[in-house]
Amino acid sequence: MITTYRDECGTHEGLRLHQDHNERPCGRCVEGESQRLLMAKLFPEMVPARPAPAPLVPITPEQAAENLRALNDAMRTTPLQECGSHAAFMRHYEYGEKPCPECATAEREYRRNLRIAHIKLANPASPSRRNAAA
Ligand SMILES: [Zn+2]
Ligand SMILES: [Zn+2]
Repeated sequence: MITTYRDECGTHEGLRLHQDHNERPCGRCVEGESQRLLMAKLFPEMVPARPAPAPLVPITPEQAAENLRALNDAMRTTPLQECGSHAAFMRHYEYGEKPCPECATAEREYRRNLRIAHIKLANPASPSRRNAAA
């Protein structure tokens, strides 16, 4: 006779599953059931054990952003950068928000400056070129 081990093994449900499938109950199920029968005999007034908690459900993206915001607020060591900065633009992005107009403008300026800085690094400019870039 074969048997199947399940997550429910050790519970009354596990024992019933063995019986439903015409299996011999496994050791954990036998042990669990005899323990329950003994307890019921010894303590007829016993309050049942607390049922297992419901499985966790995934949270919504909105709730995730709110949690992240609260965590960031708690962990922040430098002052919050107001809207209209690269940091604020990145914050909108991180929270899955559409950047506000001030941040969109600031980000364009930030990227433009970054591009200019890269060009200057890549081409150590002659004085005339530097004048042309300015
Ligand atoms: Zn079992
Ligand atoms: Zn903003």
